[in-house]
Amino acid sequence: MPLTLTLPKWYDLHTHLRQEGLMAPIIKSQLDMGCCGVLAMPNARPPVAKVRKDDALPYWSLEEYRDMVLEADGDAFDDFIVPLYLTKDTTPEMIEDGAKSGLLRAVKYYPPHGTTGADFSHPLEELLKTDVIKALEDNNVVMCIHGEEHGLAGEQYFDRKTNAEEFFYRERMPRLLEQFPTMKIVGEHMTTKVAVDLVKEAGDTIAASITPQHLIYTVGNLIQGFKYHLFCLPLVKFEEDRQALRDAVTDPNNTKFYAGTDSAAHTVKATDCGCAAGCFTGGVAPQLYAEGFELAGVDLSSAESQKAFEAFLCTIGQNFWGLEKSTETFTLTKEEQTVEMLPTPDGNITPLPIGIGNATIPWKVTV
Ligand SMILES: [Zn+2]
Repeated sequence: MPLTLTLPKWYDLHTHLRQEGLMAPIIKSQLDMGCCGVLAMPNARPPVAKVRKDDALPYWSLEEYRDMVLEADGDAFDDFIVPLYLTKDTTPEMIEDGAKSGLLRAVKYYPPHGTTGADFSHPLEELLKTDVIKALEDNNVVMCIHGEEHGLAGEQYFDRKTNAEEFFYRERMPRLLEQFPTMKIVGEHMTTKVAVDLVKEAGDTIAASITPQHLIYTVGNLIQGFKYHLFCLPLVKFEEDRQALRDAVTDPNNTKFYAGTDSAAHTVKATDCGCAAGCFTGGVAPQLYAEGFELAGVDLSSAESQKAFEAFLCTIGQNFWGLEKSTETFTLTKEEQTVEMLPTPDGNITPLPIGIGNATIPWKVTV
């Protein structure tokens, strides 16, 4: 009998459901990997950056996007969260109204021009001049942060001694924690030892999501043969960073680091003059997380390791977000699974394993 883990259905607490023809197939890929819910990031086209449908701003509202998700079979989820995209038009009144109505549970900060769909974002130093962040703290709204400094020159963006994420976690995050000591913060898709150390040392108001690709790969894997399906932001980093992530998630005492795939579908990943950022891991994420734990030296046949894995995938994030544990289960089996392309009306999506030349993966999910 191959090793089998029976797990409660889980929440992918950082994913991208996109819009229109992409949405239903992406939601299906989440359900197919045992998700009972998601946190769907708001960098759709247009971004989800207002609360109410009748607000005149040229964005989608939380109300409208919620309806779109429900219509694309998102009603199969137990629950889902859509953070509000912070833009120059976000106001403290909007935050208060959203929180009081129950529509708004979180916001997302993107560094301007820092990643796919980040063209509408507003610099953190500008947001700090307003009362928007204070309103988050006052209304118990979680601030999800893409923690990379924006506007850096190439040699500061990614170099041996520094990079955009380290800069953000050294310079910006400590001040944010100090200025807003009771605001709940999530450091999204964390990739560096600097960021991991800060979260470990800070209080319980901050948690972090970790993607499968950042647990499994380093920048060397991306550059060797330029495997552009592994190009995501923040970039995969160095061995020391990967080790810090692996140590954090496999620690039996972990209470802060949880699963959020940052799965990001692109029908056209690379063109003649560039490459879209994001790895698509819909349908295969629990399998890749299990592989990541094993690559970290964890023996998933031991009860203690299974506990740490289940905490990372199914418990820690849900507790942080106050989400209820699913009463349904799915299974992960140590058995080879063939990875399938995801067809959509807008074109095929290539899952990360196929994109980097792996037609099969060592673990299999059954829902
Ligand atoms: Zn993302």
